[in-house]
Amino acid sequence: MKDITKKYSNGEVTIVWKPSMCIHSTICWRGEAALPEVFKPREKPWIVPEGAPTEKIITQVQRCPSGALSYFMNEDK
Ligand code: SF4
Repeated sequence: MKDITKKYSNGEVTIVWKPSMCIHSTICWRGEAALPEVFKPREKPWIVPEGAPTEKIITQVQRCPSGALSYFMNEDK
């Protein structure tokens, strides 16, 4: 799984996921501060960017403790 980078876009924001960095803290999908509408570890693909507004996605990505999740705005690319 080393150095794999996956990208998931809702057209406005792109979520970038690096599986080798994920420490499986579950913060993104479990608990009160999670965003289970977007982060669905039992599904494939496990990130569904259409599941929540862009602002919520950004807030959630910023909570990832490992750096496995990051994002960029599509207009910046
Ligand atoms: S919050 Fe980050 S480290 Fe935790 S499970 Fe999600 S992607 Fe992995």
